[in-house]
Amino acid sequence: MSLSSVRIYEVAPRDGLQNEAAVVPTAEKAELIARLMGSGLGDIEVTSFVRPRWIPQLADAAELVGLLPRNPTARFWGLVPNRVGLERALESGIGGIATFLSASETHNKKNVNRTIRESLAGIEEVLGVAREEGLRTRAYISCVFGCPYEGDVAPEASLQIAAKLLAAGADEVVLGDTTGMGTPLQVERVIALLADGGVPIDRMAVHFHDTRGTALANALTAWRVGIGTFDASVAGLGGCPYAPGAAGNLATEDLVYMFEQMGVRTGVDLDALADAGEYAAGLLGRELPGRYHQYHRGNRRRTASRAVSR
Ligand code: MG
Repeated sequence: MSLSSVRIYEVAPRDGLQNEAAVVPTAEKAELIARLMGSGLGDIEVTSFVRPRWIPQLADAAELVGLLPRNPTARFWGLVPNRVGLERALESGIGGIATFLSASETHNKKNVNRTIRESLAGIEEVLGVAREEGLRTRAYISCVFGCPYEGDVAPEASLQIAAKLLAAGADEVVLGDTTGMGTPLQVERVIALLADGGVPIDRMAVHFHDTRGTALANALTAWRVGIGTFDASVAGLGGCPYAPGAAGNLATEDLVYMFEQMGVRTGVDLDALADAGEYAAGLLGRELPGRYHQYHRGNRRRTASRAVSR
């Protein structure tokens, strides 16, 4: 059931930078994206077409997409909150869009000030238009494995939402562990419930956060039950928005290391990816939480200090 190769969907330029305090200049974002693409990553979420006032870190969306290569080896994706955002995404020439809503009514209300039903109506329209325009589409469901306000979230709620998103034309649904509450056996149960409910396993992706240290174990579990697409952020870029200083996104290097060492192909060159992570840390000017990233940095420092002391 487990796949011999997996697809990694890189989120650092959008989900990572959105949750960092610093605003990175557009040209440096483009350079980071070029390095990520150069490591072999085939899908990169580069920005968000939300109202620039909401997320100043990503206010340069159109300008950034304009700086990216015309014939990329990766597909570039942008987050889209509504129909206005979709129009901006279409104008930019981006290849794929991602929509989002939460499986938790309280979280959805706090995040976008809409009920789940209201969000779904808007997203269904966005997905329909995006497909007509020939864009690839994915749809994030947040808080699938727990909500910071409500606690447990019934997996049946995620199933109902996923079914509607697929019917509306989403190419894939992404099960998000928004605040890193999920555990491996829960991941196994939730994916099984969705699969039994008619959501094809090859149209599910997973987006884990390492807030409590469970992201890699959750990813391994998801792979063992047949999931083939994994979101991750280079060097673990992007903290947890609810807990300053805490880890957020699963680090891409950690995921690539685990899969490649197990003989599961990712298509990503780990050395090149680690160098991209170094570049990202330089942009932010702070230590980033990825484990392989820290190991790689430590090795480089030791090598450099040996060279000096000789
Ligand atoms: Mg995330």
